[in-house]
Amino acid sequence: MDKIIVISMCLTGIRCRYDGQGIPWEGLELLKDKFFILPVCPEQLGGLPTPRPPAKIAKGDGFSVLEGKSQVLTVEGKNDVTENFIRGARETLKIVNMFGENVKAVILKEKSPSCGVKTIYNFNSDSLKPGKGVTAALLIKNGYKVLSSDELEEIKKL
Ligand code: SF4
Repeated sequence: MDKIIVISMCLTGIRCRYDGQGIPWEGLELLKDKFFILPVCPEQLGGLPTPRPPAKIAKGDGFSVLEGKSQVLTVEGKNDVTENFIRGARETLKIVNMFGENVKAVILKEKSPSCGVKTIYNFNSDSLKPGKGVTAALLIKNGYKVLSSDELEEIKKL
């Protein structure tokens, strides 16, 4: 079996983002002839609609959410969508586990409250802080190699 790269679905241009858009991502060209690309969107897998209200992690990061020490809230109205984000992370892990050691790496969209690998947004501003999204945290906890969509030099080396 070809080695598999699991990737945030929005990075393939599929319109699964909170605003109903996808993202043109230059990294895809580096990978698509070498690997089988498996796109996943944790927020859709967690049962959220598209488009959906933007949400952020209230404090800490994805690890804090998994430990029950923080929540994921919509920016407007502060609706608690923690359960959806955790469910989406678990469903994504199930998919990654199906392929186990055939997964060369998981590449996730930087800055997202699900998929961020190095940075996520502060709840009360548009500024960024170091931290991981909920799905990134769960996959790292389970021993997978998780790269940020911004790490193009690392991605070239895969
Ligand atoms: Fe889905 Fe992750 Fe992309 Fe958000 S960043 S749209 S959760 S794949």
